Amino acid sequence: MTTPKTTSQQQSSTEDTHVVPDTMRAAVLFGPQDIRVIEKPVPEPGYGEVLVKVAMCGTCGTDLKIYDGHFPQTPPFGEFTPGHEWTGTVVALGESVDEFAVGDKVCIEAHHGCGRCDNCLIGKYTACLNYGNRDKGHLASGLTFDGGFAEYVLHNASSLYKMPGSVSFEDAVLITTAGTGLYGLSATGGYIVGQDVAIFGPGPVGLTTVQACKQMGANRVILVGTRESRLEMGQKLGADHVVNARENDPIEAVLELTDGAGVDLAIECSGATQTPQQCVEVTKRAGKILFVAYYAEPVTVDLSAVVRSDITMYTARGEGGNNIKRALSLAARGKLRGAEMVTHRYTLEDTAEAFRAVRERIGDPLKVVVVP
Ligand SMILES: [Zn+2]
Ligand SMILES: [Zn+2]
Repeated sequence: MTTPKTTSQQQSSTEDTHVVPDTMRAAVLFGPQDIRVIEKPVPEPGYGEVLVKVAMCGTCGTDLKIYDGHFPQTPPFGEFTPGHEWTGTVVALGESVDEFAVGDKVCIEAHHGCGRCDNCLIGKYTACLNYGNRDKGHLASGLTFDGGFAEYVLHNASSLYKMPGSVSFEDAVLITTAGTGLYGLSATGGYIVGQDVAIFGPGPVGLTTVQACKQMGANRVILVGTRESRLEMGQKLGADHVVNARENDPIEAVLELTDGAGVDLAIECSGATQTPQQCVEVTKRAGKILFVAYYAEPVTVDLSAVVRSDITMYTARGEGGNNIKRALSLAARGKLRGAEMVTHRYTLEDTAEAFRAVRERIGDPLKVVVVP
């Protein structure tokens, strides 16, 4: 256990001297709301896999559901390390991997499909029919397989993206987040040039989606939320209008801004149970609604109104469709700003505190990262 092993010598990067230890510190979920940082073996990359030294790992609402023990298909308590928004530096390559070199900085998408089910074969790998089945080749980092609240983490080469020097690790955490909105936009057809868009929920998904919609040529992007600090950030990042739903009726406000017609596309990123109905009421007849959030409980929506107005509803899970590559392209050109959303940092030992800060909104956090 004490002899350090050196990493792959395939490349002459200055970092190929990095010595990968046998064990590492990693946060492990032992039960609902019981996460502890323990010593764990450093995993070895198998065929097609890459070992990454984690630079930082973002936290999000999904992590809270995992933390509470409410998320389906996570591995058993006592062995599982969550964290699906991580970034870092490649330190070892498994067999057949020549897409990366030791020393490369990478960002990620969480999902790697099995590559052999009906859905993977048509590119819908975030809805892999072998979801959670590692033996069949599926893994979702930090969801069905050990993730990034650790010093080292494994992932499949297909789910990693090499970062250009202009993109920081802080940006990289938000690139994973941005992939969700972009994937959803591709599901809706994506041709939003000149259209009005309302985005509900100015969290990291909403705020990266605001930027994506502006880049895609939307006419007016209206951001609806309840926290002033986040709405201000939305304005800074390109929202044309912001609506504080605590102060104004969001339905009236959006209808007024669109001359009574409503928006062409409403995007629900908030996860609040009352907003789906608000989306229905602000969407133009024959418009579209995209859902990318998760809800704590079943949601009530007037479906008759949806049918009457000939509205089409879409959902998207995760950040599939190679959209991390697209998000990275935006970030590299300065069109997707992520780093300024990182408001709080915690050490790995304080992972539980980081979750508490997200849940209890301690210090009005936007994106909380854990730095091992
Ligand atoms: Zn997430
Ligand atoms: Zn599959």
